[in-house]
Amino acid sequence: MLYDTVILGGGPAGLSAAVYALRSGLKTVVVERGLFGGQMQNTEEIENYTGFTSILGPELSERMREHAEHFGLETVLGEVQGLDFGNRVHQVRLSDDRILEAKTIIIATGCEPKKLGVPGEKEFAGRGVSYCAICDGAFFKDKELYVVGGGDSACEEGVYLTKHARKVTIVHRRDKLRAQPILQERARNNERISFLFNRRLVEIQGERKVERLVLENTVTGERETVPADGVFIYIGLKPNTEFLQGTPLVNGDGWIPTDEMLRTPVPGVFAAGDVRDTWLRQVITAAADGAIAAMAAYRYLEENGR
Ligand code: NAP
Repeated sequence: MLYDTVILGGGPAGLSAAVYALRSGLKTVVVERGLFGGQMQNTEEIENYTGFTSILGPELSERMREHAEHFGLETVLGEVQGLDFGNRVHQVRLSDDRILEAKTIIIATGCEPKKLGVPGEKEFAGRGVSYCAICDGAFFKDKELYVVGGGDSACEEGVYLTKHARKVTIVHRRDKLRAQPILQERARNNERISFLFNRRLVEIQGERKVERLVLENTVTGERETVPADGVFIYIGLKPNTEFLQGTPLVNGDGWIPTDEMLRTPVPGVFAAGDVRDTWLRQVITAAADGAIAAMAAYRYLEENGR
């Protein structure tokens, strides 16, 4: 099947690209491996998507999917294995050996939480170690939790966890938070939250589930072991670009650099949203990227003869 555009990823970038591509009359398909909405699905409340003072992440996901469906969205459920770039037609290889042919490709596969890589992290994943407060917070009613990180996610999700937990301690490796002031303030004003600065989590211990954390003071090197029922890790993001390894599309960290029309070095291949090498990763910037990438793809097709 030959498409005008194959969009990889059904988050806000991919779904917005689909709306613009479909309204421009492009034969379009979105490939998604799981739930539509991407990271919005793991976000409780979104209050910085213009037009909605507050909306739940899963609800905005659903609205975006319905919006694209309204214009005739076609979807394929599957995992992208690799891309083969051709002269005029590219191929998208899926893990079940299906191949989609595409005159243009919009990569909008987003990113996912980084892992700390400390002993016990893998072993206790799902048994006290989590990367998603919305998904797992309710399992920790009246428990004592730790959050690792000093960014927006650590502060925001730390506050969310106090809905369930008795006490939440945010552990940060420096003495200054990176989070936006409004999110820092909410965390600081929450009486169930306390902070441990200049600390690094070096080991997660327990029998069948998380019971203790070993923390190291980044200034003195001293270690202490604290009791914990769970730990939520929010230390940043890594791009979902494994299928692009070895291509000229990704930089050393796996992000995709683009120009202002969201073009990659491969003609007809564009990138949009969190997967791009960009400094602000928000639902609204991802959605805007989707629009730009789709219109750039449309213009490319017009110039190169559809
Ligand atoms: P982030 O902004 O990259 O922050 C990661 C934090 O983890 C930093 O404080 C960093 O410390 C720390 N860290 C990194 N590697 C570490 C390690 N190995 N050990 C210990 N600590 C480590 O990531 P994020 O908070 O997940 O946010 C990701 C993106 O989503 C950002 O662009 C953010 O603005 C956005 N976001 C926005 C909102 C919102 O607008 N409401 C909410 C959530 C996320 P240092 O500070 O020392 O580098």
